[in-house]
Amino acid sequence: MSGPEPWAEEARAMVDRLPPMSAEVADAMRRVPRHVFVSSEYRRTAYADEPLPLPFGEATISAPHMVALQLDFAEVGRGHRVLEVGVGSGYLAALLATLVGPSGAVYGLDIEAGLVREAERRVGALALGVPVHLRLGDGREGWPDAAPFDRILVSCATPSLRPEWQAQTREGGILVAPVGDAYSQVLTRLRKTGPAGRLEAGPECRFVPLRGVSDAIYRP
Ligand code: SAH
Repeated sequence: MSGPEPWAEEARAMVDRLPPMSAEVADAMRRVPRHVFVSSEYRRTAYADEPLPLPFGEATISAPHMVALQLDFAEVGRGHRVLEVGVGSGYLAALLATLVGPSGAVYGLDIEAGLVREAERRVGALALGVPVHLRLGDGREGWPDAAPFDRILVSCATPSLRPEWQAQTREGGILVAPVGDAYSQVLTRLRKTGPAGRLEAGPECRFVPLRGVSDAIYRP
């Protein structure tokens, strides 16, 4: 995956321009080609620090600095079983797979069938050697059959840390989600330790909203 390809230099330069991040996240962001996850018309800006539209639904691939923040804030590490709600392009899922390594596993849900299909193809083509399971589904319910997870990362704006996600986070694990309304959210972290857990507020952010199934079916 690394080597002489021109994108590898672009990815390195992208990481150098971003705010500081952990060495592990920086390494993963240098190794996963972001251009593979954007539509061909955006190839030229694939390594700029910008969100870009995806071909289905209201989805965007998040800006690289936001992706780095999500990964660092969730303290994703080797061997973790991770769930992402809202896989979109699959870029974050590919980074998660790189971070957890072959002893970990990544599960991802999206409510748009076209995105799930594309994300599967793109992540699969990288041949990361890590189990990655992507599925069409309503992320509001989490993935109860595969729970518990060491980490759950929600990649769409949500009014609350849903009880389903809290229940599916392993004791000692971490749930990270952008909590707020459709326009502005606070990246929020729940450390599930003890009966109440510990809630921590991170930076402000803006993600596309978590939708209900009916929105997906009846959207014009
Ligand atoms: N992290 C992604 C970007 C996600 S954008 C990336 O790296 O590309 C947010 C995604 O959440 C969109 O793809 C949208 O379709 C999805 N989404 C919205 N509501 C959802 C729901 N209820 N369940 C699952 N996915 C949902």
